[in-house]
Amino acid sequence: MANKTLSGKTALVTGSTSGIGLGIARTLAAEGANVLLNGFGDAGEIAQLQSDLAAEFGVQVSYHNADMSKASQIEAMMSYATEHFGGVDILVNNAGIQHVASVEDFPVEKWDAIIAINLTSAFHTTRLALPRMRANNWGRIINLASVHGLVASAGKSAYVAAKHGLIGLTKTTALETATTGITVNAICPGFVLTPLVQKQVDDRAAKDGISNAEAKQALLADKQPSHEFVTPEELGAMAVFLCSDAARQVRGVAWNMDGGWVAQ
Ligand code: NAD
Repeated sequence: MANKTLSGKTALVTGSTSGIGLGIARTLAAEGANVLLNGFGDAGEIAQLQSDLAAEFGVQVSYHNADMSKASQIEAMMSYATEHFGGVDILVNNAGIQHVASVEDFPVEKWDAIIAINLTSAFHTTRLALPRMRANNWGRIINLASVHGLVASAGKSAYVAAKHGLIGLTKTTALETATTGITVNAICPGFVLTPLVQKQVDDRAAKDGISNAEAKQALLADKQPSHEFVTPEELGAMAVFLCSDAARQVRGVAWNMDGGWVAQ
């Protein structure tokens, strides 16, 4: 295990019971990092996930159920990380939700939830993780933004605002840590076939009266020139690179992995 690149480090991946967060947690564990999982889901399935990851990769895996829309619960999770692991070395701010509606029809409570979970939670975890990272002069903060942090799509006002904001937080935190061993960057995926996107596929199939497979292709054809989904494993590999020594001067970037979406 000692030859793995992230042995001895602890990674907190928010929203890691599903989708991209789970893919990144797995990839970091495969590199030897201990992992603190977070997110919603069935308690039995999460316990199984913990023991499977620990057995497969020989790392410590723990879980905290903090609701990322609640500052007090985020504070409790960060205290838990300190008690159980001594703190967080790698912080992946990944928890996120989506809602699609025009601005004038956007439910106010959905707006508030998207800004809280997709943006404000990263402010809280970052402010609470930085003191230990500064003390160690090493840390990696990776914010899961989106192509929607770089460009907009109609119907996604709260999500686009939150993701643009998250890239702003990324750049600011990168500048404030620029002379240290802490790097702060954002990853901007295009479409990844997770439950978050499956809902958009289902809505498209229902709206256009087409099959699930046709709806996937229609969604991709609209936006993603490769006509293929990005995978959680590919995003995990990018996260591992950002955690590496080779990436120590990568600071404040918003890197898209998007099948060509933003090149258009
Ligand atoms: P997902 O729905 O599969 O997973 C979201 C995770 O966040 C789950 O673990 C869920 O339990 C957790 N979560 C949701 N609300 C939470 C809360 N209040 N507190 C704690 N955990 C909460 O979604 P995903 O597609 O894997 O998305 C992960 C991140 O990647 C999000 O930030 C999303 O915006 C971003 N992203 C996704 C895509 C895509 O195409 N899927 C593209 C670009 C960016």
